[in-house]
Formats: sequence, C-alpha cells, structure tokens
Amino acid sequence: MSSTRSQFYECSHPECTEDHSRTASYCSPECRLKHKGRKALRNIKHDHRFCSTCYKPLKVVYRPADSKTPKLRKKALIIREAFAGFQDFTEFAESGDYGLECDCGNVDHYHSEPDFRDQESYEWWLKLVFETFKKEGQQDDSFDIETFCDSYFETDDFELALGRALHE
Ligand SMILES: [Zn+2]
Ligand SMILES: [Zn+2]
Repeated sequence: MSSTRSQFYECSHPECTEDHSRTASYCSPECRLKHKGRKALRNIKHDHRFCSTCYKPLKVVYRPADSKTPKLRKKALIIREAFAGFQDFTEFAESGDYGLECDCGNVDHYHSEPDFRDQESYEWWLKLVFETFKKEGQQDDSFDIETFCDSYFETDDFELALGRALHE
C-alpha cells in the first residue's frame, strides 16, 4: 500500500448512499446480499412466467425439442430459433382487465403486493422458481427455504433474506 490518502468508493447497491474505504464493491456484506436478492427478484419479474407477488407459475412455455427437428433445413431452423415457444396458462392464471392475473389477487405484473403474498405459501413457490432457473441453466444458485424464513423473520428485509438464502 503506497497511498497515504484514504480513498472512498460508492457502494454498488443502487439504493445505498454509503461511501466506504474498503476495496470491495459494497460497503458491507449486507449490501452485497441485498443486491443479490434484488437482482434475483428482477430476474423473476423479467421472466414473465411467475407471479411477482406470490411467485406461483402463471404460464408454462415450451419449445419443440432439438431431437424432434433433426431433418429441418436451414430456413426452418432459423424460424425455430426465433420462435419463443408455445404457451400454456396454469391453473393459477386468469386473463383479466389488465392482462394476466394471479389467483392470489395480483393483477399488475410489475408490482408486488406483500399483503396478498402473506396469504400464500409463497416460500415454496420461490423455491420452485429458483429450481426452474437452475434446471434451465439461467442461474446456479439454489434457494434454501429455512435460511430465507429465519432471515426474513429476523430482519424483516425481503431482499436481504433472499440474498442469504441463495447459495451455490
Ligand atoms: Zn451499501
Ligand atoms: Zn400470485
């Protein structure tokens, strides 16, 4: 260390305003975990297959398997690449005035309603979401339901609890 002046860095958590002199990106381990939880929630929202309040699956998307299309010529393969997949709505989904609605009461995909969530066993649905992501290779982390429940009870911080519960 040759520098005599202390350096300050901005914490990488978008909502944190703490400056810190650590060489790490975050001001604290909590901020790192909170950001991890926050990113995981954003992935769920962007995925569009799960309710963003109770995390139940609302649609199932499937594509034809590669093994089903061995004889396709180039043009057909390009079309298949661009094809997003067939979609089925699950038993929890209903189409309502604002689009796809969930039977927990959530009608706006980009909004989470914790009051609705509390009526549901959403922790298990969260587990299913992350198992799906892992199976598809979207994310390596597993979701530990016990860590999540204990941590959420203890801190009342959803993002932090989620960040703690996700581990490789
Ligand atoms: Zn911070
Ligand atoms: Zn829901």
